[in-house]
Amino acid sequence: MRNIVLFGPPGAGKGTQSALLVDHFGFVHLSTGDIFRANIKGQTELGTLAKSYMDQGQLVPDDVTIRMLEDSANGHPDANGFIFDGFPRTTAQAEALDRFLEGKGQSISGMLALEVEEDELRDRLAKRAETSGRADDADPAVIQKRIDVYNAETAPVAEHYQGQGKYHGIAGMGSIEDIFARLRDAIDGLA
Ligand code: ADP
Repeated sequence: MRNIVLFGPPGAGKGTQSALLVDHFGFVHLSTGDIFRANIKGQTELGTLAKSYMDQGQLVPDDVTIRMLEDSANGHPDANGFIFDGFPRTTAQAEALDRFLEGKGQSISGMLALEVEEDELRDRLAKRAETSGRADDADPAVIQKRIDVYNAETAPVAEHYQGQGKYHGIAGMGSIEDIFARLRDAIDGLA
C-alpha cells in the first residue's frame, strides 16, 4: 500500500493532479481544503470556524485540522492507500500524520512536491477565481497572503520528508498531461 503526500504552493495543481492520480492508482483522496469547503457549504460549526481563517488566507489551527483529517481517514478503513492533498501544511501536522499512520502500521511512502514559479501561481489563481467561486481566489491580497503563509509555515514541511529520504521534487510547469506523467512515474518508483 502506498500513501502519498502531494505537496506544493496554492495553485500548484494539486487538486487537478489528485483527480488523475485517483483514477490511475485508486487512492482515496483526502483534501483538507475540500473537506473545509464541504463544511462551509453544510453550515457546520467546523465550517464557520474554518471560513474565518480561509477567507483571510490563514491556516486553520492545527488541532482542529489534524482531528478532522484523522476522522476522515478513519472513515475509509478499506482504503488501498491515501493521497493527502493540502495536508500536512505545518511541521506539527506532519509529525501528527506520522504518528497516526504508525498507529496503523503504515507510513508515508513519499512526498511529491510540485515546483511552480510564483508568477505562474498568481496567474493560475487569478484565472481560477473566474470559475471557482472561492472567496480566497478573488482577492489578490488574500492570494499573496496564502503564498506568504506557504513560504513561512508550509515550505518547511518539505524538510521533514527530506530528513526521511522521502522528498521528490516534480516540475509543475507545462501541460497537465506531462505533469501527470512525471507524478505517475515517480509513484511507480516508490516501494
Ligand atoms: P490552495 O492550496 O489552493 O490554497 P486549499 O483548498 O488546499 O487551497 O486550501 C484552502 C484553505 O483552506 C487554506 O488557505 C487554509 O486556510 C485552509 N486549509 C487547507 N488545508 C489546511 C491545513 N492542512 N491546515 C490548515 N489550514 C488548511
